[in-house]
Amino acid sequence: MKRILIIHTGGTISMKEDKETGEVNTSSKHPLEEISVLLKDHVEIDDDILFHLPSPHIRPDHMLKLGRFVHEKMAKKSYDGVVITHGTDTLEETAYFLDLFIQTRKPVVVTGAMRSSNEVGSDGLYNLLSAIRVASCDEAQDKGVLVVMNDEIHTAKNVTKTSTSNVATFQSPQYGPIGITTKNEVFFHHKMTRHDSYPIQSIGKRVSLIKAYAGMDGSLIDAVRESHVDGLIVEALGQGNLPPETVDALKRTLDDGIPVVLVSRCYQGIVQDTYGYPGGGRQLREMGIIFANGLTGPKARIKLMVALEMTTNMTELEHMFS
Ligand code: ASP
Repeated sequence: MKRILIIHTGGTISMKEDKETGEVNTSSKHPLEEISVLLKDHVEIDDDILFHLPSPHIRPDHMLKLGRFVHEKMAKKSYDGVVITHGTDTLEETAYFLDLFIQTRKPVVVTGAMRSSNEVGSDGLYNLLSAIRVASCDEAQDKGVLVVMNDEIHTAKNVTKTSTSNVATFQSPQYGPIGITTKNEVFFHHKMTRHDSYPIQSIGKRVSLIKAYAGMDGSLIDAVRESHVDGLIVEALGQGNLPPETVDALKRTLDDGIPVVLVSRCYQGIVQDTYGYPGGGRQLREMGIIFANGLTGPKARIKLMVALEMTTNMTELEHMFS
């Protein structure tokens, strides 16, 4: 019998709808506690409620606490896999942080729900069951942290929430899911490429995220620089270009020793130094801006926060994003 650790952190998957007002909120009893009883003949389950938070309340220090908790629990008992339930709003950031932090070959699966536990069509129990099945599966080993929702298995690195309310919200726009779950089976159809882990002890660096837009100037960038951040992520236009009016402010940021990491506001593709016009990717790269290939802005922010705990050397930082 497989032994699975479930860690609850909150989110809609742990909430109930008030049938009179329609308001969805936390409830004193975790609605998924009965899962252990449901599965007792197939899987041995230990479950812990670490947090009871809506995911907009989750901060990087919660993510680190959760990562440490996984390490501690796994050191005490030999689990075959771990399942984490989480609110969907920031699920991709926590999953990606755990992907960078957790050192294990065992499956670690994050799941959530779009509809609370007593709503019509609630997806929580189903997603939790699917996540347990994936975490119990030998083939799920060595794949980094996975996100299982709505019959699909995604990597923490590529998955993102694409719809505010649809149950099929989690997608990996560039690469697709790496597997699917059916009623009785778990199928993987992609192999993993490189996977790095960073054993950090703390997560306290201040990294801001700015999205570029037509007609943008340097005022937002200067405001962020003057607030003494440790790093800045810019979601640039297209392949990695910015309005020329932002360039001087970016130079001032880099001159202050603040690393600037570039991603694209496009939801597919990677940033490249293709264009040579003022503000184009070529100029940005030559200035010393780091190009983060394929990560979304929020995930590049998590990665820079993690990377800055290990080094402030620009070359080393660039290497971590390559
Ligand atoms: N707002 C909720 C949260 O992230 C959404 C969800 O869990 O689906 O906590």
